[in-house]
Amino acid sequence: MVVGLGPGNRETFTEEALGAIQSAQVVVGYHTYLDLIPDLIEKKERVATPMRGEVARARQAVELALEGKAVAVVSSGDPGIYGMAGLILEVAEGQVPVKIIPGITAVSAAAASLGAPLMNDFAVISLSDLLTPTEIMFKRVEAAAAGDFIIALYNPRSHGRPDNIKIARELMLRHKAPYTPVGIVRMARRGEEQRTITTLQEMLNHEIDMLTTVIIGNSQTRVVGGLMVTPRGYHL
Ligand code: SAH
Repeated sequence: MVVGLGPGNRETFTEEALGAIQSAQVVVGYHTYLDLIPDLIEKKERVATPMRGEVARARQAVELALEGKAVAVVSSGDPGIYGMAGLILEVAEGQVPVKIIPGITAVSAAAASLGAPLMNDFAVISLSDLLTPTEIMFKRVEAAAAGDFIIALYNPRSHGRPDNIKIARELMLRHKAPYTPVGIVRMARRGEEQRTITTLQEMLNHEIDMLTTVIIGNSQTRVVGGLMVTPRGYHL
């Protein structure tokens, strides 16, 4: 099983995810994710792995499942969105049944905190170029902006690549107005959530890091009563 834990707090776990973890004999995941659920896994075998160890972790999980153990690989948010689901399916190659249990993804949690910015077509783009070639990443950013999509950015700024967000903003400014509303949410649905509503012009004057999701509006997005709203098109 590949289980989505949601963005953070226990209230955002689904019943299905809780049940899956409870029924597992072995729980596999990053230390940071296992630390979110200490009470659920205290009596279970644990395989905690460091960041960037994804392939080794996937192989280990599949081997344990082949030995007949009930394994839960945990991911934050939704495991099928920049998570472990695809890699597990690729490594398992159909040798063991794999069940994917969805979770609330960061963009849903961030949008809810900002208001209703995703009421029309949106594109989700990760600004991590570890696994995606940089030129494709930027091509997608510009194409989404040209198509007037609302754009949600995951992995918006890492220490290794602090300039990707700056380049992405320049590309978006070719097609989106400087006053386009931008929402920045850090640690959505975790203890110390921080939320900012700004503009495409000003967005880099705010703290953006790897615990942040950034949502850039489309040409219709407005700030209404302090919240970010993209009108669906209803006539009021
Ligand atoms: N599978 C995860 C995404 C993993 S990629 C999901 O579906 O949510 C990691 C990126 O997700 C982070 O860099 C950040 O952009 C975003 N993210 C994850 N949790 C978040 C949270 N609680 N608040 C804001 N952004 C978050």
